[in-house]
Amino acid sequence: MERLLARPETTAAEALVARGLPARTIDGFLRPLLSALLCDPELTTSSRCADLALRAFARGRLCLPEGGAEALPRQLARALPPGTVHTGVRVTSVSTTSVTTAEHGVFRCGAVLVATGARAAAELLPGLRVPDFHPVTVVHHTTDEAPATGASLLLDADRGGPVAHTAVVSRVDPSRAPAGRTLVSSTVLGPPGPDVDTAVRMHLGRLYGVPTERWETLGVRHTAEAVPAMRPPHDLRRAVRLLAGLYVCGDHRDSGSVQGALHSGRRAAAAILADLGVDRSLHSAEPVPTARAA
Ligand SMILES: Cc1cc2nc3c(=O)[nH]c(=O)nc-3n(C[C@H](O)[C@H](O)[C@H](O)COP(=O)(O)OP(=O)(O)OC[C@H]3O[C@@H](n4cnc5c(N)ncnc54)[C@H](O)[C@@H]3O)c2cc1C
Repeated sequence: MERLLARPETTAAEALVARGLPARTIDGFLRPLLSALLCDPELTTSSRCADLALRAFARGRLCLPEGGAEALPRQLARALPPGTVHTGVRVTSVSTTSVTTAEHGVFRCGAVLVATGARAAAELLPGLRVPDFHPVTVVHHTTDEAPATGASLLLDADRGGPVAHTAVVSRVDPSRAPAGRTLVSSTVLGPPGPDVDTAVRMHLGRLYGVPTERWETLGVRHTAEAVPAMRPPHDLRRAVRLLAGLYVCGDHRDSGSVQGALHSGRRAAAAILADLGVDRSLHSAEPVPTARAA
């Protein structure tokens, strides 16, 4: 890890070329894989973040939380005493001693940790930097018959259409699909073009080698601020302690990923415990038992 972070920092695209790998390896595998891992089709991301993403991929492979992305926060919340977490409460302002909400009044407290995305954090904590973001569009289709690619993630190295990567997600987690159906989820990076569903459907026909005209569109989800951009030089340990009693965490303080968000949360929790004078080390989380390899 230290060796990796000691390398000169440039963009991921420049680093790929500078390392002298064969063009086939770069264009046929590394470029599309990194685009998918970083949600960054132009690979303008810091080469250090790209190296960390490749390292995590090589060591841990890919996985999906069974039941959807919210399974992870639900599992974390279950470890807390009942009633600790309140959802559906919008915070409108914070100070070191109070949290003001839109509809539930003011909560007094000993410390505040703002754990939102970058833009919401900057609204609550004026002066906080708002990064650029990579937009992501995910198109979900269902069909009766699963294409024969198993649980593999398909990357489009040829850039022959809008889809950057796609997978038969129901082969990894059947609970995400309508009963007895196949779910194919496909990701478009960058701004989606006009009639994205038709363009995606045609592209999927070529990628999977099956007719897709009769596939049913379940949903098209566009998130303009999906992942904070991490251009070089990128600080992977952005401060989480703003002042005693006021802290911030999230993917924008670390790396733009679930791992980054979790890691920054851990750093913030350690800072809060230290400031409160609580002499307790943070325990290590057990591996998530329901994650399945993709
Ligand atoms: C389509 C898509 C695909 C992705 N795929 C991957 C992937 O495969 N792997 C990966 O590692 N990352 C992926 N990411 C990125 C990943 O989801 C984020 O990096 C991660 O969720 C960031 O976590 P966070 O806790 O910082 O913020 P969030 O997950 O955004 O959580 C912030 C929370 O704060 C709440 N909130 C905001 N404002 C307020 C307020 N005023 N009051 C109360 N609550 C508030 C929000 O409702 C939200 O629940 C993807 C993102 C998208 C959009």
